[in-house]
Amino acid sequence: MQHSYRISRNQFIRLCTFLPFAIPDFRVDEDFILTVKGKIKPSELGSTLIHEHVLVDFIGADKITADRWNHDDVIKKVLPYLLEIKARGIKSMVECTPAYIGRDVKLLQKLSDLSGLNILTNTGFYGASDNKYLPALAFTETAEQLSSRWIAEFENGIDGTSIKPGFIKTGVNSGPLSDIHQKLIRAAALTHLKTGLTICSHTGPALPALQEIEILKTLGVSPAAFVWVHASGSNDDFLTTGKTGCWISLDGISEGSLAKNAELILFLKKNGFLKQILISHDAGWYRPGEPNGGDFRGYTAISDKLLPLLKEKGLKDSEIRQLMLVNPANAFKIGIRKI
Ligand SMILES: [Zn+2]
Repeated sequence: MQHSYRISRNQFIRLCTFLPFAIPDFRVDEDFILTVKGKIKPSELGSTLIHEHVLVDFIGADKITADRWNHDDVIKKVLPYLLEIKARGIKSMVECTPAYIGRDVKLLQKLSDLSGLNILTNTGFYGASDNKYLPALAFTETAEQLSSRWIAEFENGIDGTSIKPGFIKTGVNSGPLSDIHQKLIRAAALTHLKTGLTICSHTGPALPALQEIEILKTLGVSPAAFVWVHASGSNDDFLTTGKTGCWISLDGISEGSLAKNAELILFLKKNGFLKQILISHDAGWYRPGEPNGGDFRGYTAISDKLLPLLKEKGLKDSEIRQLMLVNPANAFKIGIRKI
């Protein structure tokens, strides 16, 4: 006997009305983080280092090619450092090396497989260092054209792979924004509005950070979608910029800067910005062209030195958790944030 699957027009209308509620996973895509191995839930991110590097090649956008390094050599050097932080309970690393400075998503995927760490990579162009790392097309294309390249990486994958960016990385000089750097930030805003990717911009002082935030706001993007990378300045600068609602990235933590960073974290906490602080080392840096990748800086100062120091200074476990787990998950959760 044949079953008929035809339904009446009225049945169809009723089904359409109920369908979104009948499928509980209908809106599942709204809450996720993109790693080099695909989507994870924000709750799976765990303790995270939000600004680190595996490999950086400063030869310049016009000279860089992927055959300047060998995956096996890099893995041999870098994997022990990743296992070292995994043993300390770190679950994820945000790898901030942009295109044209050594972003290698296949290498990151291999390291993620071997270490068991979640690794995030990025899309975008880095204009800091006076545009040495910008490809020629960045000078001639419009913000819209640049953003469509970055959106394509989010939709289709990077460099012919299916590996997608988990955030946008841009970079600007430390003074007032030049025309081309303003364009990069407009392109980042347009990309955010299409993809919901968070914008991390190598910036430094508060002046260009505030200018970047102004551009984002003009295009309707909330400062909550912006990470002020390499945040530096006076306490006044921190308060003015923090009040916009942006993320404040204290990413230069090393054995030599523990006291200064601990003090800054306590100052920001006292002023109500604990939920906007992100911390990391900006370490790593396997350098192609140098013997055995040169001097590599490990990623352990936060676990081994900074967190015990913060506890000693009165930070509660819940506040450490806020810094290491909650803030990174909120910062890198994909979602369009409009003003
Ligand atoms: Zn960096």
